[in-house]
Amino acid sequence: MRLHFLGTGDCAGIPVYNCDCQVCSESRLKPALRRQGSGALLTAGPTRVLIDAGPPHLEQHLGSPPDLILLSHYHIDHVFGLFPLRWGCRDQPIPVFGPDDPAGCADLFKHPGILDFRAPLAPFVSHRHHGLEILPLPLNHSKPSLGFFLEYQGGRLAWLCDTGGLPEPTLTFLQRRPPQLMVLDCTLPPQEDDHPNHNDIERAIALHQRIGAQATCLTHVSHRLDLWLATTAFVPPAGVTIAADGMTLDIGP
Ligand SMILES: [Zn+2]
Ligand SMILES: [Zn+2]
Ligand SMILES: [Zn+2]
Repeated sequence: MRLHFLGTGDCAGIPVYNCDCQVCSESRLKPALRRQGSGALLTAGPTRVLIDAGPPHLEQHLGSPPDLILLSHYHIDHVFGLFPLRWGCRDQPIPVFGPDDPAGCADLFKHPGILDFRAPLAPFVSHRHHGLEILPLPLNHSKPSLGFFLEYQGGRLAWLCDTGGLPEPTLTFLQRRPPQLMVLDCTLPPQEDDHPNHNDIERAIALHQRIGAQATCLTHVSHRLDLWLATTAFVPPAGVTIAADGMTLDIGP
């Protein structure tokens, strides 16, 4: 499997509007430092899966339409790209799977265009698409949200965004089946108290260690975290990296 990050920022993205911090200022001059809303394209053999759809101009990055779309939840920074994409041209609608959230986001359900919103996914009920196994996992967030455990020919990927810590059943499952790559919410620099909806970097690293993932890539990064990383001598432990827009990672046995 191959995972290509389209967007790795939090809900504000980078640069943050009207922010003159070091990170936002530099990112206005250096596009490589910018972060769009959450989203990635997974290739598993013949199947292409869009996981979250935050970047506003998805059509510039996607090429041909994905075979299916997985949505972790219906916060705008995870679905924003679907608003223009739905009016694209395609004979066959694109199946879209997400959590049980009747409110969804704005008028996506009412005017789906080429999107085919399927029955909501249930935690721990798996689906198969051409050899790709998709298992939804519960997360801790302010809106109904699901993580995804994706398995293809011995490759195992966990996509866990957005979440503050992990619910016990998700943690136990991942400890039993450690993924080769875990993509994990890491929105904040170190906090005094655990945030209910997002991880700070210390909590994210503790989860990497408790789960025993071969590699963990931290995403949903805020300008506050990037600023902290740029101004401290912090070096992530072995196996932990920070995601960047445009980064590609291979996942295999
Ligand atoms: Zn988010
Ligand atoms: Zn800033
Ligand atoms: Zn969210």
